Amino acid sequence: MPMMNYDVQEIRNKFPILSRRIDGKPLIYLDNTATSQTPRSVVDAVSSGYLDFKANVHRGVHTLSQEATELQEECRRRVRDYISAASVEEVIFTRGTTEAINLVASSFGSLFPYDGEIILTVMEHHANIVPWQLLQSRRPDLKIRVVDINDIGELKLDDYRNLFNEHTCMASFCHVSNVLGTVNPVKEMIDYAHSRGVPVLVDGAQAVPHMKVDVKYLDCDFYVFSSHKMYGPTGIGVLYGKKEHLLRMPPYQGGGEMIAHVSFDGTTFAELPFKFEAGTPDFVGIGAFPKALDFIEDIGIGNIAVHEHELMEYAGTRMLEIPGMRIFGNAPDKSAVISFLVGDIHHYDMGMLLDKLGVEVRTGHHCAQPLMQRLGISGTVRASFAAYNTLEEVDAFIAALQRVIPILL
Ligand code: PLP
Repeated sequence: MPMMNYDVQEIRNKFPILSRRIDGKPLIYLDNTATSQTPRSVVDAVSSGYLDFKANVHRGVHTLSQEATELQEECRRRVRDYISAASVEEVIFTRGTTEAINLVASSFGSLFPYDGEIILTVMEHHANIVPWQLLQSRRPDLKIRVVDINDIGELKLDDYRNLFNEHTCMASFCHVSNVLGTVNPVKEMIDYAHSRGVPVLVDGAQAVPHMKVDVKYLDCDFYVFSSHKMYGPTGIGVLYGKKEHLLRMPPYQGGGEMIAHVSFDGTTFAELPFKFEAGTPDFVGIGAFPKALDFIEDIGIGNIAVHEHELMEYAGTRMLEIPGMRIFGNAPDKSAVISFLVGDIHHYDMGMLLDKLGVEVRTGHHCAQPLMQRLGISGTVRASFAAYNTLEEVDAFIAALQRVIPILL
């Protein structure tokens, strides 16, 4: 059911790029899983960060530096509230989800016991696989164990529970799959891991843009996400970590900002969260990020979720009318992502022709090659939805599919 107060046109008006044309056709942007578009309010805030506030943070007594620092720290408070973290000390700015996971794998991973085992799942993005493998290359005693999926793309929870043993020292999994759209029962998975004394990292890159996330309720040890997937600036992300862990973890990188005192006899490190923020951060992007949170909160994340779900259900139903359509990921609890193939058509050919009709979808392995291997395919076409997409765009997408499929078969 459409929501009475969901004015999608008013939302679209905030995104100048949506009035672009591709090859003379109206842009239909369905690649939101890779990155969402950015409202003018965020772009204006970035612009103002350069034009009005630019000075390095935490380093100066002068007015500009203090204003820039205040913008950055205001963002930290907003993020704390947005994910219900206990304190700003638990909110670390990174370059994105990828850097946040690398930080945890490298720093927290250095504390893992000899012969430790790390549980991942087959649906992980490479960002939640390769950092653990890099750790393993330095620590060959560590093992990685992988949870499988069932036919509809849900994690096999029995498999998950059975992988735990006395060596398990970490579990790390996505909240929402960027290919299948599956929303994993992370609360249940975290509670189980904790009952076995195992800490958990949740990769929330595909969850935070689409649902309310409360890290205190989840009780996860780490939660990571990227701003650019949630209408915010590129190049910034967040690592939430429980303070008790962050205090024990060694710094990830060394340099300015993260120290208390440096001498050639030794260095002491800054308090949290700065201990993990070496070097000049993207303070302009961070300063603008609250505008993206405003955008989401003004509409309401629950309203966005309902709208996206309606688009996905409608698109899924219409797509299944197309002969030879295979949709990968059919979990009842699914986010607004549809990965598909039609007959023997190569995903790349399909993406190229859809682009000619103005429809921007993603093709390929979506940085999830182990999942592709598990599904026995080389890649998919992926359409994904955001707050500004419309039912008319879904109709245009289906019409475009109906035009390109006969050409490619
Ligand atoms: N994890 C998931 C589930 C993702 O979908 C992505 C990006 O698509 C990432 C991690 C990596 O995010 P970033 O490239 O912003 O670091």
